[in-house]
Amino acid sequence: MLSTSNKKTAVSVGSAAGLCLLLLLLLVAAQHHRVQVQDDASAAAADAGTRSLLQDAAQEEHTKKGFSAYFTKLTRARREVEKPGRSSAYGADPPPAEDIGADDVFIAVKTTKKFHQSRLNLLLDTWISRNVQQTYIFTDGEDAELKKKIGSHAINTNCSAAHSRQALSCKMAVEYDKFIESGKKWFCHVDDDNYVNVRTLVKHLSQYPHTQDMYIGKPSLDRPIEATERLGDNKMKPVNFWFATGGAGFCVSRGLALKMSPWASGGHFMNTAEKIRLPDDCTVGYIIESVLGVPLTRSNLFHSHLENLQQVSRTEIHKQITLSYGMFENKSNIINFKGAFPVEEDPSRFKSVHCLLYPDTPWCPPQVAF
Ligand code: UDP
Ligand code: MN
Repeated sequence: MLSTSNKKTAVSVGSAAGLCLLLLLLLVAAQHHRVQVQDDASAAAADAGTRSLLQDAAQEEHTKKGFSAYFTKLTRARREVEKPGRSSAYGADPPPAEDIGADDVFIAVKTTKKFHQSRLNLLLDTWISRNVQQTYIFTDGEDAELKKKIGSHAINTNCSAAHSRQALSCKMAVEYDKFIESGKKWFCHVDDDNYVNVRTLVKHLSQYPHTQDMYIGKPSLDRPIEATERLGDNKMKPVNFWFATGGAGFCVSRGLALKMSPWASGGHFMNTAEKIRLPDDCTVGYIIESVLGVPLTRSNLFHSHLENLQQVSRTEIHKQITLSYGMFENKSNIINFKGAFPVEEDPSRFKSVHCLLYPDTPWCPPQVAF
């Protein structure tokens, strides 16, 4: 369990919890300057990972300063992360290193049975409908409707449906194994509240040879996470590493994924996650940066609902690789553009984004200037 002096173990699976991550970790850094991983077995069951860390501290902060101050903080943090020279985003694309197509990419969508209706169906109706061949859904329960729609691309991991660190690592372990089995060139992981612009994703990945060690995504912090590796014999070793936030999506080249095998394949991923007691996305960062010494390649084209999504402008939407949506204190954090559908009909904005990217979709209204 990650904790600080004011440790809480309350679990929230709501998107507000996700929205808190950046602020939470900023607070942790400012107030404690150290994320301590403790040997606390009783907390493990209630641990929802970094995303629900210090929720109460953040809650207090929101109440004190309000939503706008919170977003100012997020914006500041984001500016930090986006410093020129540290990002490959927005610039002109370099020439492709490899001629890859959508079929070369394995996209793993992490979900849970209770979100099949409310979240997954929206993805199936939008971006997945155009990319069924490369998309695999990793869930935790049988769903005949889902099987009917995508057959073997719906994978029941048989992992627990809890939002615990162990359950999430269990899913990531299955995602990894299925990717290796698929023989595809790139592994990309997203959450079920992400829209993936596959065309842009493929174009972006084609800049790099898949045989090279590549780990691409967006960190949610402006500094590496500090954790403690449990070495056995009650020995602990402090480790610092960057990780790409799972809620924004990230990609790993096959070359690098194969090197991760001793720490990620079969049951190893869960053992590794236990060793550092961190959630799935942090564990991926730990294996890649800390164990293998491969640096994270930052991209601002990946977006989670931990950032202010209003900052993505309409003219830039088609350039983004992933988008997201979330709620914060009854206010929605969504990309702000007029789009084909009003917010009431399309609260996530994903239907409108889809019509922008695929205007020939039958259910999209005839093209008008939005
Ligand atoms: N999730 C899961 N099991 C759960 C709750 C959530 O696998 O019990 C998945 C969910 O489907 C999503 C990801 O974990 O892909 C993050 O969940 P959510 O967006 O609710 O939380 P946050 O983004 O706030 O961490
Ligand atoms: Mn989320």
